[in-house]
Amino acid sequence: MNKANKSRQHWREKLTPEQYRITREKGTEAPFTGKYYHSKDSGMYRCVCCGKELFSSRAKYDSGSGWPSFFEPADEKAVATREDFSQGMHRIEVLCSHCGAHLGHVFPDGPEPTGLRYCINSEALEFRQDDPESDD
Ligand code: FE
Repeated sequence: MNKANKSRQHWREKLTPEQYRITREKGTEAPFTGKYYHSKDSGMYRCVCCGKELFSSRAKYDSGSGWPSFFEPADEKAVATREDFSQGMHRIEVLCSHCGAHLGHVFPDGPEPTGLRYCINSEALEFRQDDPESDD
């Protein structure tokens, strides 16, 4: 964690109450309600807190879980993981590697090539569509 892991006051002012609850208090949005669950637009999903690029739309797939799902992060250093034993379960929590925002969890039931399902709250993300004029 670095200095981007700002004070509670900073995040309270920057985020909506729901964004704060999920990213800074490890909350979960209700399934099938998130604004990016059905999105198939081409672009990059960034951390809603700090703007770091986290997941490309190229890795997004329809998991049927009720949350946006990706089979890999934008790059291997984009997210951090740690064990989570809360709520009577053993899960692997996914966090923004830059600011420590709680994003969701990763499960070993995803599609090829990784076999992983990064199950991520829409509220933790901010989507930016690819510029149709650019070549990449
Ligand atoms: Fe972040």
